[in-house]
Amino acid sequence: MSNSSDFLVIGAGVSGAAVGAELAEIGSVTLLEMEERPGYHSSGRSAALYTPNYGPAVVRAIIGASAEFYRQPMEGFTDHALLTPRQAMSFVPAGSEAKIDEFIAAATPATPLQEISVDQACKLAPLLKREAVARAVLDPHVMDMDAGAIHQGFLKLFKHRGGRTFTDRRVTALERTAGRWHAESSSGERFDARIVINAGGAWADEIGQLAGLKPINLTPMRRTAIIIAGDPTLAPPSLPAVDDGATEAYVKPDAGRLMASLGDATPSAPCDAQPEDLDMAMIVDWLERNTHLTVRRIEHSWAGLRSFVPDHCPVVGFDRDAEGFFWLAGQGGYGIMLSAALGRLSRGLIADGSMPPDLIARGVDLAALAPERCRT
Ligand SMILES: Cc1cc2nc3c(=O)[nH]c(=O)nc-3n(C[C@H](O)[C@H](O)[C@H](O)COP(=O)(O)OP(=O)(O)OC[C@H]3O[C@@H](n4cnc5c(N)ncnc54)[C@H](O)[C@@H]3O)c2cc1C
Repeated sequence: MSNSSDFLVIGAGVSGAAVGAELAEIGSVTLLEMEERPGYHSSGRSAALYTPNYGPAVVRAIIGASAEFYRQPMEGFTDHALLTPRQAMSFVPAGSEAKIDEFIAAATPATPLQEISVDQACKLAPLLKREAVARAVLDPHVMDMDAGAIHQGFLKLFKHRGGRTFTDRRVTALERTAGRWHAESSSGERFDARIVINAGGAWADEIGQLAGLKPINLTPMRRTAIIIAGDPTLAPPSLPAVDDGATEAYVKPDAGRLMASLGDATPSAPCDAQPEDLDMAMIVDWLERNTHLTVRRIEHSWAGLRSFVPDHCPVVGFDRDAEGFFWLAGQGGYGIMLSAALGRLSRGLIADGSMPPDLIARGVDLAALAPERCRT
């Protein structure tokens, strides 16, 4: 079987899977993944929340453009709903009241927040200690998102459209000769393509360097999460995701249990991120100070990397310094939400430099996503 294709996508997380599925409609695509299965890194470690009021304006616009697909995916993508209602509530302690005004002012007009009383907050979230709450706001637009089904849906679509996935293939060298990119992989096989798409998550800068490119100044940030037992009285199934607006720590329902995180962002090298004992102890401390929960046992814990460039917007587009090298990186804490629309946007830019009309209508500016902006 030939290892030549039109497009070579590096990284089979949700970003690589989504762009692969799009490109497989217009050419032959090979998807290379260094781990033994797709989704081992960030895409398999998210909080699985759809939060339209999160991130810079361009991120919110792209999240909105993805939502239409998640609400009504094409036939065969999934056999159940990808988004289900959840809501999110932000509370702040005394001394941080002004934060609530900031949250309300920053909300996207299409997805406004509603201030609620302390009584309403404690009724909606019986786990909260009343003395922890000085002001609160409700975001009714936040949804639970089936991150696994979204990722699997794109992989399935990719395969259905003729795309080929190779796991256990780490790209170790990249070279452009005679108008094509040639990739060497850890298996010893060589792959070549007209266009290479760098969807390497936390490793995107390392992959750029293999091609001799300047970094986009990507910083992977570690975030730790724990799962603890649910509590039907303090945390009924209707519990919104609850976050502490002063510290970014949060707790949310997770399949009958509770997931909690400090909302930490610790700079890290690209790696198989692992939870640190101190971070887990701090999550438990936050829970026990702000809620009525007593944490007897941590059932499960994990850490994952959210990779950002300095302006926290994704990096999408061809590199000016290397013909046929396309960046799809810097998805930060929103990569699952962004993947559908970023896949479509990447396809348009790669195929003929065009932007999907709905992204133009939402005011998405390509300059805000361009790789070169990260190097100035
Ligand atoms: C704790 C946590 C909570 C989050 N919560 C949310 C949330 O609620 N909602 C949301 O939308 N997003 C959330 N995110 C962010 C989201 O998970 C990421 O933005 C998204 O998964 C990034 O996907 P990706 O495909 O770009 O990266 P990845 O999933 O990391 O995929 C990159 C892939 O590239 C592969 N790779 C790297 N180098 C090579 C190489 N040289 N050769 C071959 N393969 C290579 C890696 O093995 C990896 O599989 C969260 C992240 C974390 C860590």
